[in-house]
Amino acid sequence: MSTVRDTAVVLRRIEFSETSQVLAVFTRDHGRVRLIAKGVKRSTKTRFAPAIDLLEEGSLLFSPRTGTAEALSILAEWKQTRSFSGLRERLLRVRAAEYVAETTAMLTQDFDPHPALYDALTATLMRLTDASDETALPEVVAQQRNLLIATGLLPRFDACVLCESEGPLPYFSALEGGMLCRSCEAGLAEKRVVSAATLSVLRGGDAAGGAVGAFDILDYHLAHAAGREPTTAAALVPPQRRRSLH
Ligand SMILES: [Zn+2]
Repeated sequence: MSTVRDTAVVLRRIEFSETSQVLAVFTRDHGRVRLIAKGVKRSTKTRFAPAIDLLEEGSLLFSPRTGTAEALSILAEWKQTRSFSGLRERLLRVRAAEYVAETTAMLTQDFDPHPALYDALTATLMRLTDASDETALPEVVAQQRNLLIATGLLPRFDACVLCESEGPLPYFSALEGGMLCRSCEAGLAEKRVVSAATLSVLRGGDAAGGAVGAFDILDYHLAHAAGREPTTAAALVPPQRRRSLH
């Protein structure tokens, strides 16, 4: 049985039982991998004990299984390298990290490597370990952009996606994949109002003050791309805070 060594962050704990864990991890060199880890219970005398936690980073050895969509790779060894323990000290840090992890799992594919995205993800998690309630959301927005860039899904923010006009650009369409000018938006039903301050953040500008608006648009876009809402979004930014923006 061939095994590979890599480093990974735990994105999701899919199942957890007395005798095994099923995890979705994001590896640096193999992309997203779903793993079964047997005998992870703290009480068992195996090298896996204690159980592997969400959002920790480890070096791992696993046997890849890629035959079917349901195939789980088999975890042979997990050695924690970073626990990002500062995340657990503030609720908003945990929520920010959980959102970043969930959206990474949603938009990446099994065995489709994105080493630069892996490095950006772990750097974001490190910064979140001592983030304040003011800096946590701007970190998330930067990572939303990193994720959309890595997966080739970053919308067009510099000009109207339909006619190339450079402005004003008061609307965003997830379906069209970018901003819309006043003449192009008129015929489209699927669109969101975007303020000039939000647009500046979406273009990569300083997120101070415009982070909620930028989060809202990028979350809307990645939910559209993935076909479902991230379940962790509402805990991070309550829907009423998002609705009051536009
Ligand atoms: Zn236009």
